[in-house]
Amino acid sequence: MTVAIANCRRCGKLFNRMGRDICPDCVKDEDEKLATIRAYLRQHPLANIYEVANGTDVSYDEIVQFIRDGRLLLRNNPNMVYPCERCGTPTQSGRLCANCAKEMAREVKNEGRRPAEKDVGPSRDSGRGKGYYSRS
Ligand SMILES: [Zn+2]
Ligand SMILES: [Zn+2]
Repeated sequence: MTVAIANCRRCGKLFNRMGRDICPDCVKDEDEKLATIRAYLRQHPLANIYEVANGTDVSYDEIVQFIRDGRLLLRNNPNMVYPCERCGTPTQSGRLCANCAKEMAREVKNEGRRPAEKDVGPSRDSGRGKGYYSRS
């Protein structure tokens, strides 16, 4: 049996890595925070992220992280928005707004289409033997 020891991405503690990159304590901590956020949103469906952060012990950044990771799904919470990383448009999932996600996908596709290789330079075996002479 292989045991992978890793540093928790969240608290830095060493732990036996079992698939996730955070330790069991942090998993539990995150689950509790998620439950707190969900409970708060059930009571305040129109709250925004700042209000949820104020009403719970979860920070704004942590809440955004949960949403980006897809762990906190927003269905009836129109005010739970945070700015798109690219253009700042309010968004409710992922790192980018729908428009930017579309554009990024297009850019990635274009990058895959590299121009044909040319001007690689002379591949001839030049120089070899040229100028070689033996004095005897
Ligand atoms: Zn941890
Ligand atoms: Zn955007």
